[in-house]
Amino acid sequence: MKRYAPLLASLCALLLLGLLMRSQGQSVRAAAPSPVVQTAGAEQAPADPGQVAAAPLTQPATGPKKFSMIAVGDIMTDRNVGGAIKSNGVHSILEKVRALTSDADVSFANLESPLSTTGPHSPSDCIFRARPETVQVLVDGGFDVVTLANNHTFNAGREGLLQTFDMLEKYNIKYCGADRERRGDQAAILTVGTGPVRVGFIGATDLSIEHGCYNKVAPDRSNLIAQIQAARPYCDILAVTFHWGEEYQSLPTQRQKNTAHAAINAGADLVLGHHPHTLQGLEVYQGKPILYSMGNFVFDQREGERMESAIFKLDYAAGWGWQIMAKPIWIPRSRMGPIYPSAERRDKILARLARISKPLGTTLQIKDGKAWLRIPASGATKEGSNT
Ligand SMILES: [Zn+2]
Repeated sequence: MKRYAPLLASLCALLLLGLLMRSQGQSVRAAAPSPVVQTAGAEQAPADPGQVAAAPLTQPATGPKKFSMIAVGDIMTDRNVGGAIKSNGVHSILEKVRALTSDADVSFANLESPLSTTGPHSPSDCIFRARPETVQVLVDGGFDVVTLANNHTFNAGREGLLQTFDMLEKYNIKYCGADRERRGDQAAILTVGTGPVRVGFIGATDLSIEHGCYNKVAPDRSNLIAQIQAARPYCDILAVTFHWGEEYQSLPTQRQKNTAHAAINAGADLVLGHHPHTLQGLEVYQGKPILYSMGNFVFDQREGERMESAIFKLDYAAGWGWQIMAKPIWIPRSRMGPIYPSAERRDKILARLARISKPLGTTLQIKDGKAWLRIPASGATKEGSNT
């Protein structure tokens, strides 16, 4: 959230104070919701969607409640990524993309490696444990919230997870999908943007493989639905983020589709997916966006489709709806961090994203080296109208 925004240095001290006060968060426990203490941050001028969206398809959002979000897939700072950090410094990983990932009211990722000095560690067997100081990759990218509900949550054991909490809390990065009470069913709620907007994140796994995690979606999804319904009154926008699906598959499974639809039917506004380590398509269900898999963001897999993905920017305003932009990235193994690819590779990624979104009923517009999806608010009478 604009942690990395050098231009702010030239703004007046009052505005800077306002910025520092903005990032406030709280959690709501699903099973026993308690009244939420409003922690709205000081107002400040919101990001103009046009700044990043160089050529928005429509007028920028103008609702009384509006915010912008960056969402990316898997971040893993162990194994070869950890080696690159040792060799090139922690700031080398996101230096090519941090201007974009920091330029939103809230930035989200899936953290796939515990940050710990203790616990099991066998990276060649995918038992991850990254050095705690690699949390600086998240800080560097301006990330505000991560999910810890994935199949690597317990790779470094309970102690490793506690150290992960410590590091995230130290740098004021919120997390969902795991907590100190061994539940992970809380929604992490951040108060951001104009209005302001209370944006909640529920993190869960819905995997066919055996894995440790506090918050697994039950076969009948009853726990998921209860969590969404409990958090719903405390959020203006409720995102549910799933670690799900099958690795390296470009199309979501029927289970993914059914779980996404169930989440939206229960009250979710947005579904953000990860785990396949490759992009899957976008769907609009009941006027709500589903990003089935956002692919890798910081990882060390085989070059090819696994290392080609995107940064997603979502602009929202009440009464106006959503605009989603996908900007292609690729992760060269020589760097272990994302960069913007050549025009040829970029266009290949965009064509693929458009192709795999088609079976989900979604037509992406490709323009200016990005993919765009506009989702007008249901009931909006005209662009930019407020409800
Ligand atoms: Zn995974």
